Amino acid sequence: MTDKKFLPFSIPYIGDEEISEVIDTLRSGWLTTGPKVKQFENDFQRYLSTKITPVAVNSATAGLHLALEALNIGPGDEVIVPTYTFTATAGVVRYLGAEVVLVDIDPKTLNIDPTVIEGAITPRTRALIPVHFAGLACDMEAIMELAGQHGLKVIEDAAHALPSTRNKKLIGTLKTDATVFSFYANKTMTTGEGGMIIPNNAKIAQRCRLMRLHGINRDVFSRYVSDKPEWYYDVVELGYKYNMTDIAAAIGIHQLRRIKAFHERREVIANRYLKAFSDLPLILPALPTNGDKHAWHLYVIQLKDKVKMSRDTFIEKMKQEGIGCSVHFIPLHLHPYWRNRYGLNKEDYPFAQAAFQRAVSLPLYYRMSDCDVDRVIDTVYKVMA
Ligand SMILES: *Cc1c(COP(=O)(O)O)cnc(C)c1O
Repeated sequence: MTDKKFLPFSIPYIGDEEISEVIDTLRSGWLTTGPKVKQFENDFQRYLSTKITPVAVNSATAGLHLALEALNIGPGDEVIVPTYTFTATAGVVRYLGAEVVLVDIDPKTLNIDPTVIEGAITPRTRALIPVHFAGLACDMEAIMELAGQHGLKVIEDAAHALPSTRNKKLIGTLKTDATVFSFYANKTMTTGEGGMIIPNNAKIAQRCRLMRLHGINRDVFSRYVSDKPEWYYDVVELGYKYNMTDIAAAIGIHQLRRIKAFHERREVIANRYLKAFSDLPLILPALPTNGDKHAWHLYVIQLKDKVKMSRDTFIEKMKQEGIGCSVHFIPLHLHPYWRNRYGLNKEDYPFAQAAFQRAVSLPLYYRMSDCDVDRVIDTVYKVMA
């Protein structure tokens, strides 16, 4: 253990503006979904330049659930999900009684492999949930072509992908059925907990708005507002409790304004890692082609086979030197719930399995100083020496 301060794997940046806006919200008397959520949604719409106003929710998990629900995914349906992701991507499919079909990844990008999707499609397949792993956009042209051929819905898990681009278009503006961003504390911007659904059309948007708050139909309410008392409302569906609070939105409004600065800093750090580690026996993250943006939510290195040290030992040594690391992801096929439900074997996912065994996520966030970055680089060299 060194005498230096421990460098955590991730710490969010919260500025004075976020703090003032939260205090303003607390003093306003309106804490739950209200004017700040409205503003956050409008700001987000302006940022993406979308026709439809996005729908703020209390997590990306809630957002993915609502998006699938709005697309009528239910019992008897199958949804294709990469195994190399967080459990939420697949969990939401099960919430609706549909079944998850896990597929392997492309070993270069660690994203879902469009060439294995085709083999996983059955007459029951209804949707695909590509995950833009670490912030590198998936091959959306191939995915959309397959979806078109087989009549499948596409819901992007964009928890890592703000701001990523594919063919110079921001994720969230491609013609998929819905895109969902996460504002969890360690993501590229945060509201503490939160998420945003980017629906492709007004019908999906309206359904998500209805279902995020108990299935209470505000349109019906406002239409009859003249002849109904103020306390009246209609519950028209069995909805959920997924609305974002104004406290969370107060943070989000200012985080969104910083997204460019956040991204520029992440890019600088990623480029420094890229340069510093090019001589080491490491597989470095794939870069976007033709000048697209990588959001750099994560910087995942993989220890090459010739490194005679396990991934676990590497992380333990980094920790002893005062650097926090993590692993993204423990593939879903290794978790008891998913493994047992579908009788999965690790041999069926060779690329996700290999990536998992060698993957280490290094610290990468706005608050890291140049000294912190130097320290991570020096420590990686020391640990690998
Ligand atoms: C973080 C994450 C989620 C879930 O986001 P929440 O906002 O915490 O619900 C979903 N998918 C992926 C890939 C994630 O990393």
